[in-house]
Amino acid sequence: MIQMLAFAAAMTLPDFVRGHTLLPYRRAIASHKETLLHGDPSDLQMLRFAATRVAREGAYFCANCINEDIKKGGMSYWRRSHQIPGLLICSAHGTALRYMETEAAFRMAPSQCMPVSLPIDEEWAIQSHANPLVAKFIELSLALASSDKPLPIKPVRQALVQIARQKGISVYAKSSKELLSDRIVAHFPQRWLESVFPGITAKHSGEMLHQIDGVLYLSTCSSTVAAYLLAICMLFDSNEQALEALASIGPETVLNTRVCVPRAQLDFESLLVDYVEFKGSHAAVARKRKMPTITLTQQLRNLGLPNLTLSGSRRGSLLDAAYNFFIHGLPMAESAKRANVMLADLERIVRYAGVELIASLKQMSPTALQSKSTARLGKGQLPHRMSFALRVGDCIEDPAKKAA
Ligand SMILES: [Zn+2]
Repeated sequence: MIQMLAFAAAMTLPDFVRGHTLLPYRRAIASHKETLLHGDPSDLQMLRFAATRVAREGAYFCANCINEDIKKGGMSYWRRSHQIPGLLICSAHGTALRYMETEAAFRMAPSQCMPVSLPIDEEWAIQSHANPLVAKFIELSLALASSDKPLPIKPVRQALVQIARQKGISVYAKSSKELLSDRIVAHFPQRWLESVFPGITAKHSGEMLHQIDGVLYLSTCSSTVAAYLLAICMLFDSNEQALEALASIGPETVLNTRVCVPRAQLDFESLLVDYVEFKGSHAAVARKRKMPTITLTQQLRNLGLPNLTLSGSRRGSLLDAAYNFFIHGLPMAESAKRANVMLADLERIVRYAGVELIASLKQMSPTALQSKSTARLGKGQLPHRMSFALRVGDCIEDPAKKAA
């Protein structure tokens, strides 16, 4: 379909994809095929799966824009920039957008949707866009939505880690320093934040939110691009500084990790295979390798691969708890409770977890991956469906009450 539309518009495939789809936004930061140009005709599979997907729930338009479209050419058009998460106001007219609940609306002209569409609260939209962090987020989103190719995740993570360290933010799964997610919740306007990353305002202070905090320690994309954009806006003083930092850090820069023994010396790859095969049981891997468990445990911990079995006669599954937390993205206490293990045991896993643990868990449980794409957290949310935790000093009116 994309190829046919590009042909009809007399455009090359990359130009069409960059100008008319949200793929450049959604793949702005990528860990998979990160060197692939947006709209590269050599990878039609990528286009088939990604080029028609939207960036937020619903279909958004500006009433003034479509009135102008009709005056000018007799028909109205959907605008790509209006579909960017967090964008509530048309930059051309300065007025709040309207929206349809379902993306099926894109099959109609926006003028047909006008009578049944819902308005975005103008006052909320103006207040949100006036916030400097929100303004940075939208500016950066639009800039990345027009890029030629993705930013590879590794230098992005390195740049984020470097600045997070300078700003006293925790860069590991568990440390006593302030969490990135806490700082984001404390500084962004709550209702706007909830529209971009549903669920985030409900988290407790000090509670790690894997989908956000993971941008600092995961080697694959922890969630949507919005998580990375929130992190960039929070950590860098300006978008110019952020883009400069992302461009200047080479992919060869090595992150400071807890790996203190050379990987080759440990026969890392085969250790990883054994760890996956025995579902994280250090004792079972040690038996297979005919070596003392204590020595092997030290080696695996250095590689960020904690023991996933419980000692003695204790019931419950640490493996399930780790799935719940790392793969399903549940809060830590809930993850432990559902797997019938003690919170302290799961905390130990998180303390020793490195990036390879996530990859290993995914191999141990292919079904766990499916749940991630349907997870509500971080998907973006329609304004009238939002519920969010109001905090002290947050005087923004609840949208549900206002609608009522
Ligand atoms: Zn407009």
